[in-house]
Amino acid sequence: MDNTTYIGIGSNQGNKYENCVLAIESICSHKKNKLLKQSSLYLTEPWGYKEQDDFINAVIKIETSLSPLNLLSILQDVERKLGKKKNGKWGPRTIDLDILFYNNQTLESPQLTIPHPLLHQRGFVLIPLKEIDHHLIHPVFNQTVSQLFDRLNDDNHATKIGEERI
Ligand code: ADP
Ligand code: MG
Repeated sequence: MDNTTYIGIGSNQGNKYENCVLAIESICSHKKNKLLKQSSLYLTEPWGYKEQDDFINAVIKIETSLSPLNLLSILQDVERKLGKKKNGKWGPRTIDLDILFYNNQTLESPQLTIPHPLLHQRGFVLIPLKEIDHHLIHPVFNQTVSQLFDRLNDDNHATKIGEERI
């Protein structure tokens, strides 16, 4: 289990809290994954398409022996299990699981871009990320997640709703 990866979790449909908790449990119960840190859960305003319910967002840091593409396919299994239906780009979803970082690798393929291409623009990702590792460096921008957050012009609010588990 040599790889460190950060996964973004979001839900704004159904029982959002339960969807996020079940997703975290499913990801971490996979024998090739191990939970290292979990952020608080945050209630956040929708980003992009605004006319939808607030989201719950969180980030987990895990150790994995899965390759990036195998990890993506496990995340998609979890999304399907939790009944993900797409309602348009940036629209409502029961669960959304994104690979934010994988070691300090960069990867560009049709199915997968790492680091996640929008993470540096999104307060709802940067806030939980800096809560668990504020010094983490974005390998493309060479800035810490705290620095990226400070440079962000994003007035969306994020309210903590849960305590850090580790
Ligand atoms: P959204 O862009 O709203 O998150 P989806 O969750 O349905 O939409 O993802 C669409 C596609 O994004 C997935 O099929 C996946 O192949 C691709 N993708 C590209 N980079 C990533 C990443 N870093 N993490 C997760 N999915 C990614
Ligand atoms: Mg996604």
